[in-house]
Amino acid sequence: MTRTVLELTDVVKRYGGRRREIDALAGVTLQFQRGSFTAVMGPSGSGKSTLLQCASGLDRPTSGSVRLEGHEIGGMDERHLSVLRRERIGFVFQDYNLLPALTVAQNVALPARLAGHRLARTAVTQALAQVGLEHRSTARPGELSGGQRQRVAIARALLGKPAVLFGDEPTGALDTRTAGDVLRLLRAAVDERQQTVVMVTHDPVAASYADRVVFLADGRLDGELGRSSAEQIAERMVHLGAWGAVAGASVGGTS
Ligand code: ADP
Ligand code: MG
Repeated sequence: MTRTVLELTDVVKRYGGRRREIDALAGVTLQFQRGSFTAVMGPSGSGKSTLLQCASGLDRPTSGSVRLEGHEIGGMDERHLSVLRRERIGFVFQDYNLLPALTVAQNVALPARLAGHRLARTAVTQALAQVGLEHRSTARPGELSGGQRQRVAIARALLGKPAVLFGDEPTGALDTRTAGDVLRLLRAAVDERQQTVVMVTHDPVAASYADRVVFLADGRLDGELGRSSAEQIAERMVHLGAWGAVAGASVGGTS
């Protein structure tokens, strides 16, 4: 059995018309192993979100191949793709995307309900217990802190036991301590349940929770690091030219 759960081969994503075309992804080849945690870093506009959208089937590449658990999703029809997204993929965004009028438990259950799935009563409780929020199931998002809201979003993403959990700057709006709580949850999904996490981040501290850091520049891979300290990651960012000032600042001056 192969351990590769997600495989991108020469993925190109082209936006725009004839006069101003841009290759948001200009030929990206990457493999992700089951039970691994990958951080994706790169300057603003380097194609990180586009990479996540193509890898997760939210968007289709212009050319190239995306295989999830052996299924080619590039050419899949919309119906099959949405089943695959729903059952094998979880997504967490920077701004949580919770519905304010629903309770925590209702938010967690919503995607499954919309999909017409019957949910075991315990499934939502279990998902909330995984993120330490079983006691807040009847609260509304407005009564929770940012970190708690993101943990609800993670519970929602984990409910379907996805093979791959994608995060687009999931800690981008959180302070250092709450970000740590969220990152430890992502780490636990990998270490305890062999799920695969792919997370875009600007923060070297967040990236230091990953097993691997891949760097993007102008829609292309620009090297990678194995598991590294925040200082090593920041050091690497400093050498990516235009990005240096940002990287240096976020670790408090590694000059
Ligand atoms: P990042 O997440 O690294 O900031 P993105 O993946 O959002 O980068 O964008 C990569 C490039 O593609 C940028 O130049 C961006 O302007 C362009 N782009 C992204 N989405 C679209 C779109 N829907 N239409 C046109 N251009 C886009
Ligand atoms: Mg982005």
